[in-house]
Amino acid sequence: MEDSKRKDAIEQFYLKYGFSTRCLHAGEKVGQPKSKAHTNAIFQTSTFVFDSAEEGAELFAQKKEGFIYTRMGNPTVMVAESKMNALEGRDLKLADPENVRISSLIYASGMAATSGLSFALLHPGDTLLRGEVLYGSTDHFFVNVLPKFGVKTVIVNTGKLEEVEKSIKANPAAKMIFLETPTNPLLELTDIAEVCKIVKRVSPECVVAVDNTFATPYLQQPLTLGADVVMHSTTKYLSGHGTIVGGALITRHDKIKDALYGTMKDVGGCPSPFDCWLLNLGIKTLPIRMDRHCASAMVVAEYLEKHPKISKVFYPGLKSFPQYELAKKQMKGFGGMISFDLKGGYKAATTLLNHVHVISLAVSLGCVDSLIQHPASMTHASMSPEARAHSGITDGLVRLSVGIEEPEDILKDLEDALKLC
Ligand SMILES: *Cc1c(COP(=O)(O)O)cnc(C)c1O
Repeated sequence: MEDSKRKDAIEQFYLKYGFSTRCLHAGEKVGQPKSKAHTNAIFQTSTFVFDSAEEGAELFAQKKEGFIYTRMGNPTVMVAESKMNALEGRDLKLADPENVRISSLIYASGMAATSGLSFALLHPGDTLLRGEVLYGSTDHFFVNVLPKFGVKTVIVNTGKLEEVEKSIKANPAAKMIFLETPTNPLLELTDIAEVCKIVKRVSPECVVAVDNTFATPYLQQPLTLGADVVMHSTTKYLSGHGTIVGGALITRHDKIKDALYGTMKDVGGCPSPFDCWLLNLGIKTLPIRMDRHCASAMVVAEYLEKHPKISKVFYPGLKSFPQYELAKKQMKGFGGMISFDLKGGYKAATTLLNHVHVISLAVSLGCVDSLIQHPASMTHASMSPEARAHSGITDGLVRLSVGIEEPEDILKDLEDALKLC
């Protein structure tokens, strides 16, 4: 077992390297101090053996560092934590290595991360400000679960800075603001740096949490832009191969990390070591996958924008996208997600979905291969028709997660299916 000083020193060592190098090497030595294996082993174990009764007592009393039980820590999970520290928090840490501590916790799912964050930070009577458009289950959790614990939630359109200002002024005691950018499925953006400034000016203690799943740390780093917590569904781009369901939280505050750790210990939501091993493997290729996702999505978006059967394409990289300038300012690339509206409505959308061959008809996103789905009848089916209409999720809207196949094969697949729409 590493002591935390050695772990910190190893993490520190890799900070000087570029993003791709950190994806490959950060954390690897943390999880496997003694082995000479080139790749990390999977510590698929629920518990750890103590050398003596006295050692067990010392570990429980936190007089000694070491692994006890996998819900409270595991070497394979620790590799993933170190990688996320190095990817999301590197610039902050590098600017002030003595005083900044970045911590990550890995979860069994993105929802375990979001619920863990909420259970750790919110108490009965607290107010949570939440983005208007959020991932479906995040929305359900805030609407259906948190009120059971006496937490009041207030919806705010975080894409409009004047609304954020109005909302935080009306709720100056709000404990947290949780937002997603780009949003699902219409890719609306929130100016993270500006939201942080506005919120902190009124209420310095209000925690700004950003779901960074769609962008990944390769394209956008909310902590560097002023956020307190970053949340990920590692199910998507970070693991990248559609093999796991997982989540992560990254924070720059020890107090928040301690609260998260305590909650995981007592509530659960810890990940499987094998899933973390797959996550660690996926992260190694994140930058080259994202470059390809971004480049191919641009080609596909431009093609769809010119197609006569499509009325509108939502992609932050298109000049026609209302927040194109914000995307350029805040993100290193425009991502791999596209939504588009078919003129033929529901019938055309389902025809398209039923006639693609390279692209898989499935929800989820951020896979190496392309996935297509119909938000109104699938991911966003539980919203009321009025709420969907208000959010711009029409019956003709299709969401495409552009994979890393040959871009011309994706285009041909769409072209052939669109002929039937
Ligand atoms: C998938 C997803 C989640 C939920 O994550 P799970 O891993 O499925 O629990 C949360 N936010 C966004 C943006 C997602 O895409």
